Amino acid sequence: MFENLSERLGGVFDRLTKQGALSADDVKIALREVRVALLEADVSLPVVRNFIKSVETKATGSAVTKSITPGQQVVKIVHDELIRVLAGEEDAGALKIDTPPAPILMVGLQGSGKTTTTAKLAKRLKEREGKRVLMASLDVNRPAAMEQLAILGTQIGVDTLPIVKGEDPVAIAKRAKTQASLGGYDVYMLDTAGRLHIDAELIQQAADVRDVVKPRETLLVVDGLTGQDAVNVATEFDDKIGVSGVVLTRMDGDGRGGAALSMRAITGKPIRFVGLGEKMDAIETFEAERVAGRILG
Ligand code: GDP
Repeated sequence: MFENLSERLGGVFDRLTKQGALSADDVKIALREVRVALLEADVSLPVVRNFIKSVETKATGSAVTKSITPGQQVVKIVHDELIRVLAGEEDAGALKIDTPPAPILMVGLQGSGKTTTTAKLAKRLKEREGKRVLMASLDVNRPAAMEQLAILGTQIGVDTLPIVKGEDPVAIAKRAKTQASLGGYDVYMLDTAGRLHIDAELIQQAADVRDVVKPRETLLVVDGLTGQDAVNVATEFDDKIGVSGVVLTRMDGDGRGGAALSMRAITGKPIRFVGLGEKMDAIETFEAERVAGRILG
C-alpha cells in the first residue's frame, strides 16, 4: 500500500547510520520525501505544512524497533497522523433521517455528480435501511437535469416528484414536502440546481429552499478530481448555506485523494461518502484508512 513512499524513504535511510531512535535530522530528511508525496497527491500547501509540522514533532525521538526500518517507522507515523486528520464522524454513512419525512438537501456545482449521487444515496437508503424515498429535482433551468433524475428513479425503483412546468424551486420543495408527508415517505431528497460556478442566484435559491424545508442533512457533492477547487467550493457553500457533510465523487479516477485531506483540514466538515464510478451502486461510506492508503500511494 505504501510502496511508493516506503521506497523513497528506504533510499533515504539507507544512507543514514542505524540508531535506536529517530534523530531530528533523520526525520527532517524523511519528511522532505513525505512533503513531495503529499504535494503530488494534490494536498494544498498550507495543509501540507501543518501536517509535516505535527508529524515532525511526533517522529523525532520516537523509538525504532528492530522489526521495522526507520523508513517504515516514519511511514507508520505519517499514516497514523493521516488517519487522525481525516477521521470524521464515527459513522459517516448514518444519515439523520429519524423523523419522517426527513428532508435531505443535495447541493453542488453542475457536473460534480450531484444528481447521480442523489440517486445512489436513495437506492442505498431503500435497499440497506428499507426506507421509502421520494426524490425531486429543483433544477428548473435545466429540464434535462429533471428528466435525468426521473430516469434514474425509474431505474432504481425510487419515486420522483412529478415534474410541473413553470414552478419555482421553493414551490417544488414545498410540493415535495407535502407529497412526502401525505405519501408516507421516510425521506425526501431535493436535488438543487447546479451551475458551473458559484453565483449569488444559486446560493440564494439553495438558501431559500433550506429555509422552507429545514433539511436534516445538507450534503455537498464535489468532484474529488478537482483538488484545491473542490476545497474552495466547499468553503463557500458551507459559509453561505451550511453543509452537514461532503460527498467526494470520482474517487475511482486518477486523483490521489489529496483533496480529501485538504477538505477535512480546511473546512472541518466530515466527508461522508465517496463516489467510485457511474453505476448506481458505486458509492461507499468514507473510510479514513482507505483514503490514507491512497494518498501515500
Ligand atoms: P450533476 O450535474 O452534478 O448533477 O452531475 P451528474 O450527476 O449528472 O454527473 C455528471 C457525470 O459524472 C455523469 O456522467 C456521471 O455518471 C458521472 N459521475 C458521477 N459520480 C461519479 C463517480 O463517482 N465516478 C465517476 N467515474 N463518474 C461519476
